[in-house]
Amino acid sequence: MPSYIIKRLPFRTNYNSDYFVDRYQGIPIGGYQPLFNGLLANRLITVKLNTAYEDVAKSITKQDWVIYTGAPDQFFNYKYGKLEWRSLDFKWEIINVRDYQGIAVMNEAGIDIPYTRTHEFKHFHPEAEKIYNQEKTVICREFSKEYKDGDTPYYPIDTPYNRELYAKYLNLAKNTPNLVLGGRLGMYKYIDMDKTIKAALDTFENIKTNLL
Ligand SMILES: Cc1cc2nc3c(=O)[nH]c(=O)nc-3n(C[C@H](O)[C@H](O)[C@H](O)COP(=O)(O)OP(=O)(O)OC[C@H]3O[C@@H](n4cnc5c(N)ncnc54)[C@H](O)[C@@H]3O)c2cc1C
Repeated sequence: MPSYIIKRLPFRTNYNSDYFVDRYQGIPIGGYQPLFNGLLANRLITVKLNTAYEDVAKSITKQDWVIYTGAPDQFFNYKYGKLEWRSLDFKWEIINVRDYQGIAVMNEAGIDIPYTRTHEFKHFHPEAEKIYNQEKTVICREFSKEYKDGDTPYYPIDTPYNRELYAKYLNLAKNTPNLVLGGRLGMYKYIDMDKTIKAALDTFENIKTNLL
């Protein structure tokens, strides 16, 4: 493991059991869906769901900018080889209890527990009282697994092999006009939501500067 990973693991000399220590923590009002609905509600934006980049690639002209948020090795047809990832299985359950674990996310550290954490979504929105007070709750457990073709890539594996490979793809992208590799997959980097949003805004500013 690269040494900087240790910085992601909080070391405490107090009894604060929260994962993050940011002064302000939260999610957008109503969750992310209204935020994205608002962002996309512009007549200049067309959303095509269930459409792979490869399906529309031919209709993209040389003047168009492409911000590609998929895996870079896939974009370049695995020219230099495959990047490695970790994947996850999610097991969902509805439990007939008002409050299952008292908190949005419980991390599991025990080696005898096969899942890494349990989410209980209602705790993200205690203000949504109608749902919050129901005598049932939705939980989801995360099981870490090796990535195989067809799985969703979740976590990049930060080894010298992957770093070198990614650098090659990045170089290729830099030499491809009007192409930006963006987001957690395109950057081959684990980033939290705040950093993801910041990176997206920075990317927009860079493109704007390039265009003006
Ligand atoms: C397991 C996990 C847990 C996390 N937990 C937290 C957390 O607790 N707090 C926090 O702040 N952040 C968390 N994050 C980080 C945060 O979720 C991500 O950084 C953020 O969602 C990244 O946004 P994105 O748009 O870059 O990528 P994504 O949300 O993955 O979006 C990329 C999109 O591109 C699409 N795509 C890929 N390839 C193609 C293609 N060829 N054609 C068409 N579409 C394609 C994908 O389907 C996907 O919809 C977590 C991330 C993971 C993986």
